[in-house]
Amino acid sequence: MSTSRVVLITGGNRGIGRAIAERFVADGHRVAVTARSGEGPEGTLTVRADVTDASSLDAAFTQVEAELGPVEVVVANAGITKDTLLLRMTEDDFDSVVSTNLGGAFRVVKRASKGMLRAKWGRVILISSVVGLFGSAGQINYSSSKAALVGFARSLTRELGARGITANVVAPGFIETDMTASLPEDTQAEYKRSIPAGRYGSSAEVAGAVAWLASDDAAYISGAVIPVDGGLGMGH
Ligand code: NDP
Repeated sequence: MSTSRVVLITGGNRGIGRAIAERFVADGHRVAVTARSGEGPEGTLTVRADVTDASSLDAAFTQVEAELGPVEVVVANAGITKDTLLLRMTEDDFDSVVSTNLGGAFRVVKRASKGMLRAKWGRVILISSVVGLFGSAGQINYSSSKAALVGFARSLTRELGARGITANVVAPGFIETDMTASLPEDTQAEYKRSIPAGRYGSSAEVAGAVAWLASDDAAYISGAVIPVDGGLGMGH
C-alpha cells in the first residue's frame, strides 16, 4: 500500500466522486468529501461546500484540516452540464458551467495549495472529460471548461512542480452515472457504437486511475492527461 494520505474529493456524494472516495477509503487513506447535499460513502468525513463559493470551500478545508490534517491529495471532481447548441446557449448556461467546472477547480486547488506548499508534497487531480479534447456538439460550455483543465494542470506543474507537487488530468469517456443516464436512449446507443471497448466505463474504473496518480508510483507523472475512455478519444 502507498503511504496513507489525507484526501479531499469535491462532489463525493454520488457518481464518479463517490467511487473515488470509496477507493481511497479501501486503500487506507483518510478521506473527506465535499457535498452540497447527501453524504459521502462510509468511512469518509462529509463537509458542506459549493465549489462556486470560495468561502464555503475555505470553511470546508478548515474543518478537514482540524479533523483529519492538511489535505495532501485533492481531486477536483464536481461538475455539471447544461447542454444545448451554440445559438441557443445563454450567457448563464455558459457561465454557470465554466464557473463550476473550471472555476471550481481553481478555487479548490488554490485553497489546497497552501497546505501542499507548506508540506512540500501534494497531488492535484482534475477530472476532465474526453470531450475536452475530442469536442462535442451541444457542449461548447462543458467541453471548453474541460479542455481548460489541461492548461490548468500544465501551468500548475510549471509553477509548483519543483515543490513536490504534481498536477494531472483524468479524462473519462462515457461512464455510467446520473450524468449519462440523463442522455436520450438513441444518443446513448450511438455513443456506445463509437467506443472501441464497446461499452460504457464504470466509476470504479475512473477511481483506479485517480488512485494510481495519487500513489507513490506516480511521483514523476505531472502535466499528463490520462484517458479512461475505452479508446474513444484516441489521438486527441
Ligand atoms: P454526477 O452528476 O453524477 O455528480 C456530480 C457531482 O458534482 C455531484 O456530487 C454534485 O453534487 C457535484 N456538484 C455539482 N455542482 C457542484 C457545485 N457547484 N458545488 C459542489 N458540488 C457540485 O456526475 P458524474 O459523477 O458523472 O461526474 C463527475 C465528474 O466527472 C464531473 O466533473 C463530470 O464532468 C466528469 N465526467 C463524467 C463523465 C460521465 O460519463 N459520467 C464523463 C467525463 C467526465 P450534488 O449532488 O449536490 O448535485
